[in-house]
Amino acid sequence: MAGAYEVTATRKRPQDFDKLVGQDFVVSTLENAIKEGRIAHAYLFSGPRGVGKTSSARLLAKALNCEKGPTPHPCGECDSCKAIAIGQDVDVIEIDGASNTSVNDIRAIKEEVMYPPQSSRYKIYIIDEVHMLSTSAFNALLKTIEEPPEYIIFIFATTELQKVPATIRSRCQQFRFHLISQEEIMKCLRSAAEDLGIEADEDALFWIARESTGSMRDAYTLFDQVAAFSGKHITLSGIREKLSIAGFGAISNIVEKTLQGKSEETLSAIAKLFEDGVSADQIVKDSAEFFRTLLLYSAGIRRPEILGAALSDIPENITSLLTREQIEAALKAFLDLYRDLRYSLSPRYEIELLFTRLSALPGLVSKEEIVRRMEELKKGVVSGSVVVKTAPLPSIPMEKKTPIAKADEKQREIADQQPINVSIAPSAPPAEAEEENEEEEANGDLTITPDVFPSIAEALRKMGKISSARYITSIDRIEKDDNGFFIFIISKPLAFNTLKNDEKSIEKATASALEEEVHIKLRFEEKEKDEEVFSEQMKALRAFFGGNLSHTKKKETKKEEEINHVTDNEPVRIDENDGLAPEPDEED
Ligand SMILES: [Zn+2]
Repeated sequence: MAGAYEVTATRKRPQDFDKLVGQDFVVSTLENAIKEGRIAHAYLFSGPRGVGKTSSARLLAKALNCEKGPTPHPCGECDSCKAIAIGQDVDVIEIDGASNTSVNDIRAIKEEVMYPPQSSRYKIYIIDEVHMLSTSAFNALLKTIEEPPEYIIFIFATTELQKVPATIRSRCQQFRFHLISQEEIMKCLRSAAEDLGIEADEDALFWIARESTGSMRDAYTLFDQVAAFSGKHITLSGIREKLSIAGFGAISNIVEKTLQGKSEETLSAIAKLFEDGVSADQIVKDSAEFFRTLLLYSAGIRRPEILGAALSDIPENITSLLTREQIEAALKAFLDLYRDLRYSLSPRYEIELLFTRLSALPGLVSKEEIVRRMEELKKGVVSGSVVVKTAPLPSIPMEKKTPIAKADEKQREIADQQPINVSIAPSAPPAEAEEENEEEEANGDLTITPDVFPSIAEALRKMGKISSARYITSIDRIEKDDNGFFIFIISKPLAFNTLKNDEKSIEKATASALEEEVHIKLRFEEKEKDEEVFSEQMKALRAFFGGNLSHTKKKETKKEEEINHVTDNEPVRIDENDGLAPEPDEED
């Protein structure tokens, strides 16, 4: 975009109530009052900056002083309308409360109000940032607004309503202005771009709207800034490059790589951001925003203007992997880092370290959850209902088969050497189990294949089990045991934890999906992973989370240790490597 043009915020300043964006309630109330001739002598407009308070004050002045008024639709043609539009009307006096705070300024107003308007119906004072006035100035003002001459109207505007004395507030007709929705801001930006003959990508406008956090003025200012370097086409990549921001997509990409354990790719993606000139501050800020969005999303929020991202940008592969608790932990980590950044020797190292540590996030399990699982395990041991693992029965293969098949081999070896594999699942008491066995024989040929998962998920959703509905596809395979129980085998600790909580509901959901009575159990089985690498990450994570986390170490003593942890009331962390079967090569 070559050449100068009028600042968009000025150019798009509404000249009619119909053009005022996002303040429908204010507009309709004012319009009705004017139509019915109910004119107050003092108005108080409060609300965030840049949402149309001053514009509304000028519109109201126009509506009251238009030669064809008072009318909710000022003509815009008469001398009054024209003069007010450019802030030159002698009878509409705009005062900035921030720079006229003294009692003397107010005294001057007190004297002035004695003189009637020169050429208009009303003499109108628009006092912006009225909360900045001193107490004595307020007191002086109070006397004037208590008994104003017929021709005087005050319109006060403030961003901090609570700082306006109650004595003033109670004498004003109050209007609260709201933040403008992202959607409305985008609409205005689209129109602004159109006016200038500039093409603007939706995601770029979305970014501007999001950054301006509900302020139309901020949105226009940022738009001007972006338009100035964008030429005839505003794109998000152009914005990223010129304004050196990381952006939601870039952070999402890094987090995804981190969670996949691809630390090399993570680090080079971070390096790329630094090369592009994105500051450490900005990366941390964008990362915090990213996790905030995920947190809101995991809490069920779907409105893009609250999420701060388009729904299509939400990375399902990340949200389905992390619990709310884990997302919270990540958000807190970035907020902490943001706060500590200025004391850091090398902000870049801190960022690299933090992202590397995040790779252990999916395994972070709450203390409460561990205690619960250990309690169940203990109960199982006591009642003798722990599931004895035998060589797996023919399993129903799933799509992502390779690593599981490998794990199967491993399980077979393990089973030979150490036949007792403990399932955390509390089994039904023996008597009940027998009863159930009889029922089971009726549908001995029944199988469950992955293609019923959508129906199971649907049934779960109907029961309100949203998380389990989402995790149901995490089931790695399904086996059938000698008693006719379907064993749902899951290797992701998170998915297992979630599903385990809803075991009975899943049974019901499965039964309803198959239209057959079924009995199911969930079983956790580990997959392989490089334990040494993980341990390093674990150490880092533990250090990072303030030592508030301990890792159930490995090998034979694992179960014992876990129980010890519980007894010690220490939080424990379980990861894919922390499955209950030990590595065979570690057995002597
Ligand atoms: Zn007019």
